[in-house]
Amino acid sequence: MRCCVGGLLLAMAGIESAHADAKLPKAAVSYRDHPNGSKECANCSHYIRAIGAADPEAPGRCQIVAGPVGPQGYCIVYAERNPKNGC
Ligand code: SF4
Repeated sequence: MRCCVGGLLLAMAGIESAHADAKLPKAAVSYRDHPNGSKECANCSHYIRAIGAADPEAPGRCQIVAGPVGPQGYCIVYAERNPKNGC
């Protein structure tokens, strides 16, 4: 499902020949480095925490958006993580 959402967003952003692993530029999803209320990357199902980082505020990665994203960032693709299964 996430792959389908990413493909749809790529199409909406006008990116025609996207590779399956292509990610959206931050500008296309209105990424910002501060939360939208309680919505932030750290509790988004697309967020991938930095592996081995001692600092919990260290930037991680996103399954959909290109480049590093901060745990307190936010974008329009935000999808709340299910606390029961972590997805
Ligand atoms: S989809 Fe947006 S809110 Fe979610 S982790 Fe990626 S950049 Fe953050």
